[in-house]
Amino acid sequence: MDKDLLDAGYRVYTGEKIDVYFNTAICKHSGNCVRGNAKLFNLKRKPWIIPDEVDVETVINVIDTCPSGALKYRHN
Ligand code: SF4
Repeated sequence: MDKDLLDAGYRVYTGEKIDVYFNTAICKHSGNCVRGNAKLFNLKRKPWIIPDEVDVETVINVIDTCPSGALKYRHN
């Protein structure tokens, strides 16, 4: 777990091979994440981010489209 990201206000969503971090204060609400993959990011679900719903490459590719830096990933 990346303590620096947690200290910076990110929450962690753990997966088997990759963890996703999200900081709501940084999010610019572009919607790229939910449009990019509705299984990985689903605002109607709790938790709204489930890394293990998709493969690792998909996690990386979608998070790379986040314009704000609100989403990060760390390999396990
Ligand atoms: S892509 Fe990034 S900035 Fe856009 S809504 Fe998702 S988390 Fe927020």
